[in-house]
Amino acid sequence: MSQIIYPTTNLYATETLTIERGEGAYVFDNQGNKYIEGLAGLWCTSLGYNNKELIETATEQMSRLSYSHMFGGKTHQVGMDLSEKLAQMVPMDDAKVFFGNSGSDANDTHIKMLRYYFNAIGKPGKYKVIARERSYHGVTVASASLTGLPPNHTHFGLPFESLGVLRTDAPHYYRNAFPNESEAEFVDRIVNNLERLILSEGPETIAAFIAEPITGASGVIVPPAGYYQKVQAVLNKYDILFWADEVITAFGRTGSDFGCNTMGIKKPDMMSLAKQLSSAYMPISASVIKGEMFEAIKQQSRDVGVFGHGYTYSGHPVACAVALKTLEIYLRDGVFEHAEKTGNYMQSKLKAFEQHPLVGEVRGKGMIAAIELVANKKTGEPFNDGAVGSYAMQACQNNGLICRAVAGSSLALCPPLIVTEAQIDEIVEKMRVSLDQTLEYVSTS
Ligand code: PMP
Repeated sequence: MSQIIYPTTNLYATETLTIERGEGAYVFDNQGNKYIEGLAGLWCTSLGYNNKELIETATEQMSRLSYSHMFGGKTHQVGMDLSEKLAQMVPMDDAKVFFGNSGSDANDTHIKMLRYYFNAIGKPGKYKVIARERSYHGVTVASASLTGLPPNHTHFGLPFESLGVLRTDAPHYYRNAFPNESEAEFVDRIVNNLERLILSEGPETIAAFIAEPITGASGVIVPPAGYYQKVQAVLNKYDILFWADEVITAFGRTGSDFGCNTMGIKKPDMMSLAKQLSSAYMPISASVIKGEMFEAIKQQSRDVGVFGHGYTYSGHPVACAVALKTLEIYLRDGVFEHAEKTGNYMQSKLKAFEQHPLVGEVRGKGMIAAIELVANKKTGEPFNDGAVGSYAMQACQNNGLICRAVAGSSLALCPPLIVTEAQIDEIVEKMRVSLDQTLEYVSTS
């Protein structure tokens, strides 16, 4: 089994699958078995595997300058070009970009920037962050504290109390609505809860509200219409910043360029980007803030003498070059438009699974979806542990489809953005066979 301590794995009962190579939307294991990558790795390999342009870009950049840091004002052209391209693309005013290595560290950076910013403008007491139940923001100490999932907290002594993370409702109508509550009533109730939380904590203590526009890793939750408009109205009322964690939803995943645009979120103040930023060919993240925040941070750093935050690999030139080329390919080849069209096709095909006896809800937008398996279709009663979800995920794998069981018994799909309609058909057919096998398992066990 090797000496690896596997990440996010049941260490007690680890079954390994050795992946050897990838080509387009497919990966192959060391036995030569072929799988269609229904989850784009971990929601990240947007352009698929063995993309020659990205490989050439990385190789060329490694030959020219394999490493250079960005401390003390050192810089390089690809880093500057990437920041400029990102600033043009994000729906924010005068955006400024801090580079890191992962979604988790991008979120940690943002927590520190929030504190620095509010100190700079003379509001040091405004540091708390509101995060939602069933959200995923990473696993470093600070980002795991934002994450709203028990396995990321239990036995780790998290969330860290002094970070001041406050928790509000997940906008999941199917799971969390009261009986006979309409979508509009549900939205009003949870937005009222948010406002009550703000008032009871004191708006002067709350810096930001963080949200994945569409919640990814914890179940692919698409909030009902009108939710974000109402949330933003409350946040504006109390001078609380909107922080969009777009680590999964950015770059064409949800049917438009950014999840904020898909979901009608107006100009976030901060954005976290990673994963599809480089199509996962190199690790890189970006913590993006609006210009106004940067100006205040800049002033503050003059007083201190330095903005004392940075990673050895902040702005790694090979990662920057690959990310820049990835963005160029997205725009040049109309990848977002392709993903919107193919994503609509995928959603319509998957929706038919709502007729399946095991399926409670099919949800998603663009090229991201989840199929929630339930113990009782009529009442929506969930399975009381993750065993059925794990069985279904394994059945998919045996049938040549890689997907992921999230939030217990939801099967998540998030294929590379470059998949064709024929490959969506392949995913759907393999899913159909696997769901039928899972139904048989549930009926006989
Ligand atoms: N934020 C979101 C929304 C994510 O989905 C993830 C990873 N799935 C992260 C942050 C953390 O990213 P990483 O695993 O690169 O640290």
